[in-house]
Amino acid sequence: MSERRWIPVNEPLISSRAGQYLQECLQSGWISSEGPYVDRLEAEMAKRVGRSYGMAVSSGSAALDVAVAALQVGPGDEVILPAFTIISCAAAVVRSGAVPVLVDSDAATWNMDIDQVEERITERTKGIMVVHIYGLPVDLDPVLEIAAKHGLWVIEDAAEMHGQEYRGRPCGGFGDVSVFSFYPNKLVTTGEGGIILTDDASLAERCRSLRNLCFSAERRFVHYELGWNYRMSNLQAALGVAQLEELDEFVAIKRRMGRRYQELLEGAGGVQTPVARTDYAENIYWVFGLVLRETTPFDAAVAMERLAEQGVGTRPFFWPMHEQPVFRRMGLFQGERHPVAERIARRGFYLPSGLALTDEQLAKAAGALTGIVR
Ligand SMILES: *Cc1c(COP(=O)(O)O)cnc(C)c1O
Repeated sequence: MSERRWIPVNEPLISSRAGQYLQECLQSGWISSEGPYVDRLEAEMAKRVGRSYGMAVSSGSAALDVAVAALQVGPGDEVILPAFTIISCAAAVVRSGAVPVLVDSDAATWNMDIDQVEERITERTKGIMVVHIYGLPVDLDPVLEIAAKHGLWVIEDAAEMHGQEYRGRPCGGFGDVSVFSFYPNKLVTTGEGGIILTDDASLAERCRSLRNLCFSAERRFVHYELGWNYRMSNLQAALGVAQLEELDEFVAIKRRMGRRYQELLEGAGGVQTPVARTDYAENIYWVFGLVLRETTPFDAAVAMERLAEQGVGTRPFFWPMHEQPVFRRMGLFQGERHPVAERIARRGFYLPSGLALTDEQLAKAAGALTGIVR
């Protein structure tokens, strides 16, 4: 297996404008967070999803930390979120002092099972963190309805959803606060980065303060609260602005790749492929996930190893929050079971899905998979 033939799980496409914008930053000397591209990225992301305010930060995880802190949850509070997600979601809640309360996944969509949300609400529940998984949104209307009925806030984690829509409205425009990540495998990248979006002026102000160490207005270097240095640099934002200009094209590429994988894997009875569409959205295929069916006599780790032998890069699915050693050691989630999340974590992985993937690489990856699962 030569180096050249390895198909990486993600290879980004860098917009042709990126170099020009970055040169501009270097030549003008605007390289820190005090630069015009940061404002531009914030304004353009907000406009794109129909929000009033955008606050760029250093990562999607930072965006979640700030969003949870801005909503002022703390010890004694509970926040409902899916068991099957990235650790950043639960970590933000745990760091705030509140308790994460988990719901299992839906077996078909891999998103949080919205039928479990209401039964997890107690007098201590303050909000719901909705996380769209792998390219298909959560069915938001029922969740927003439950939140309104119980007076809960909603954070929409749209980190994997740039350009996606729910019932014709942009993802990232729902709930009280939404976040995106700009990591290189996301549809818009800044290398590392993220953004928080809201329509609430006072929440926006709190987010701005929290991302910038909570410097006080009256006397710099006097602080009434603890924040973080989670600022995004102008260099990162310049890349982000260039990538955002091509978002529609990037979405079209992902959808084309997703459809092609679906066609090529039609005969592979041993795997469950992503839901292509529901009545509220069409899959954007942020990544092309697969779950090995019960009839397949091996798990994801074995499948991934066999694919690697054929030069195909893959990545495992998320590992459920209630099975995280770090949280178990804190005494969280004792005795909890979330069977769907547990199963898809062990039997799920995703195929090469980067924007730079060629048709030939995609066909080779699909062929290697059909060879091992039939
Ligand atoms: C990528 C991702 C994040 C975290 O973003 P980083 O920029 O990697 O910190 C948060 N939530 C979801 C759903 C993600 O996919």
